[in-house]
Amino acid sequence: MSVVVQSPANRILVIAPNWIGDAVMAQPLLQLLKRDHPEAVIDVLAPAWVAPVLRAMVEVDMVLETPFKHGSLQLRERWRYAKILRQRGYAAAYVLPNTLKFALLPWMAGIKKRVGYKGESRYGLINVMHHDSRPVPRAMVAFYAALASAPVSDLTQSFPKPRLQITPAQIDTVLQDTGLSAKQPLICFAPGAEFGNAKRWPVSHFAELAKTILQVYPDAQIVLLGSPKDVEVCQQIQAACPAVHQFAGKTKLDQALALIAASNAMVSNDSGLLHIASAFNRPVIAIYGPTDPDHAPPFSDIAHSLSLRLACAPCKQRECPLGHHDCMNKLDSHMVWQSLQAILGTGTAT
Ligand code: SF4
Repeated sequence: MSVVVQSPANRILVIAPNWIGDAVMAQPLLQLLKRDHPEAVIDVLAPAWVAPVLRAMVEVDMVLETPFKHGSLQLRERWRYAKILRQRGYAAAYVLPNTLKFALLPWMAGIKKRVGYKGESRYGLINVMHHDSRPVPRAMVAFYAALASAPVSDLTQSFPKPRLQITPAQIDTVLQDTGLSAKQPLICFAPGAEFGNAKRWPVSHFAELAKTILQVYPDAQIVLLGSPKDVEVCQQIQAACPAVHQFAGKTKLDQALALIAASNAMVSNDSGLLHIASAFNRPVIAIYGPTDPDHAPPFSDIAHSLSLRLACAPCKQRECPLGHHDCMNKLDSHMVWQSLQAILGTGTAT
């Protein structure tokens, strides 16, 4: 059996963002790199908590999990890891995080072409430097996808949508493991938000929506997804509506991906799981409060972005500075149900 050894000229390293939603938004960059370099091997360096998302991208050959602690420099570890990267041999590196420490790695590894934004004044470390100097930040997909081409001052082109893929066998396994049925409607809720409480739609609204769904579709399986940090709010939703399946903190991210891919619809705060659903092209109801619904909108063919667009929004604060949280409290479950019913009622979700 012959083994094809890729030369460094054919190896590309992408250093992924540290957040799930941003990693999904970076996916079109991978599509463009594969289109422009069809022979290339593309490795992605990512933290362990983001790695399952990268593994669902068909353009990625290998996901290298970063051994670094979040937020720390760990210079000695970086030199050690750079040595491994040097041995693998890369022709180019695309550095998506804007921090100095991630730009250090490809420079330490001797990778000749190092593409990224100026970020933390990374002169010398990044040698194909892009600038995002517009007063309004680019939408996230364009921000990352622009790195596939030479730097330009005015970005007018359009980019492909993020897309993720997993196999039917993976979905079957997770449905079996979780005791869910492929024959009954599956609706995922993502009530969490890493960023802070202000981005959370209220527990009572999620619970009311769940009850309404179950009145109309008694066989629906409503699944609550999220990280260990979301367990408390998900347990509160379950306390108010015991028929929901509380999986936050119980399922791993790769299992959550499979459930989302199998779902008939997803109702989500502005969070990473929203963008995963969107990249699987599942019907999505995205609920925005203090964030801008136009900054990183869902890309599904069927997507509803709900925002009251109050005068105080988008404040982008972790906690409501006005104390009333009207952007979420006044967006009641009936408004979300109307959009969801339009999806479920037409059968377009199946
Ligand atoms: S200030 Fe306005 S947009 Fe910001 S959290 Fe409060 S209600 Fe929402």
